[in-house]
Amino acid sequence: MKERKGRVMIIGAGAVATVTTHKCAQLPQFFKEIMVASRTLSKCEEIKNAIRKKYNRDIKTARIDANDIPALVSLINDFRPDIVINLALPYQDLAIMEACLQARVDYLDTANYESEDKPSFEYKLQWAYREKYKERGIMGILGCGFDPGVTNAYAAYALKHIFDEINYLDILDCNAGKHSYPFATNFNPEVNIREVTQPGRYWQDGRWITTAPILDEKSIHFSFNFPVVGPREVYLIYHEELESLVLNLKGLKRARFWMTFSENYLTHLRVLHNVGLTRIDEVEFEGHKIVPLRFLKAVLPDPGSLGETYEGKTVIGNIMTGKKDGHILTRYIYNICDHRDAYEETGTQAVAYTAGAPAMMGALLMITGQWQGEGVFNVEELDPDPFMEALNQYGLPWQIEEHEPLPEKF
Ligand code: NDP
Repeated sequence: MKERKGRVMIIGAGAVATVTTHKCAQLPQFFKEIMVASRTLSKCEEIKNAIRKKYNRDIKTARIDANDIPALVSLINDFRPDIVINLALPYQDLAIMEACLQARVDYLDTANYESEDKPSFEYKLQWAYREKYKERGIMGILGCGFDPGVTNAYAAYALKHIFDEINYLDILDCNAGKHSYPFATNFNPEVNIREVTQPGRYWQDGRWITTAPILDEKSIHFSFNFPVVGPREVYLIYHEELESLVLNLKGLKRARFWMTFSENYLTHLRVLHNVGLTRIDEVEFEGHKIVPLRFLKAVLPDPGSLGETYEGKTVIGNIMTGKKDGHILTRYIYNICDHRDAYEETGTQAVAYTAGAPAMMGALLMITGQWQGEGVFNVEELDPDPFMEALNQYGLPWQIEEHEPLPEKF
């Protein structure tokens, strides 16, 4: 096992990074030294002050542009963390993976790489680091938030303990919370809006099937009766964990991802989309070039600020149908997270909490040697048991229920 110092570097100082830093700071026996490094130093300082006030702990901060690989390698070499937790934006994934490779330090993130000028949602360029990480003797864990992350672990756990094979997988992500703004996104608006305005896609019998985007009247949706929060309309969208799960879950015949959207959210987004404010290409504005979606991000509420007024819960989980000893069974594994509780613990809402807490847990398992390996891994390729235990222990408890299988068509 690698020698571990209990030192972690968190890159990014947004809503998700805030949660991960709080969660790490709560476990000084494992995370002995913490650095938060990001593009805007004042945001790192805000997190540092909150941590000092709440846990009487000092953490280090640094200003870094993660796209500047030599500067990042030098910062990593100065601090020498066991792990770099990347909670900047998906655009920085490759630069941070490269810096970790050069500095020979383990890596973990929560979202797959995207180029700024074209939404892609593909692991290809990150998986290309597998051999290089193996040769350097380091470990990279991709997508260790909630979805991707916990949803991958739910599938791995079900395959290990409940099924001989999983044939049908439906991941359902519900945010039944309410905040005081007419329209806001729950995590970075640019990343969020790029994701949800794409065409939908699901996987069946070895091939991808494209469906209408959520704003289109032909989008696929239905009302699902979620535990505790009740019926909500869920829409079929493409989500990145499907790419690795269809490769890693043996026996899979169909995999889909569903997310709840309220009529209010869709109406606002439809208008913004129709007037061109979700465009990601540059346009001329008063002698400057601006990207409309970036401008929109600047005027929308900061997702980190939603927590104060957020009420309600998130319910995220997997419905899986498969075989055990020749019998067909369906199980629903899910977590319920409360916006208010998340805010009281970390100062942010449940969407950031459900992404940031698993990133701490992944890092914890790396530090304690329960997750070890050389190369680049998606979460379902690692032993789900210690992760599932950590979820129960550190704030994201899960439940398993029998369930009806979801129909093929809606
Ligand atoms: P935010 O926009 O709130 O935070 C992003 C942070 O990254 C900001 O502090 C930003 O700096 C910093 N940053 C951006 N560019 C750079 C750069 N070049 N160098 C250094 N720092 C940089 O985003 P969120 O906290 O909402 O999301 C963080 C990540 O978590 C995203 O990748 C998102 O996709 C992922 N996520 C994953 C989920 C999951 O369940 N798997 C769910 C939700 C989010 P600045 O303050 O200057 O803008």
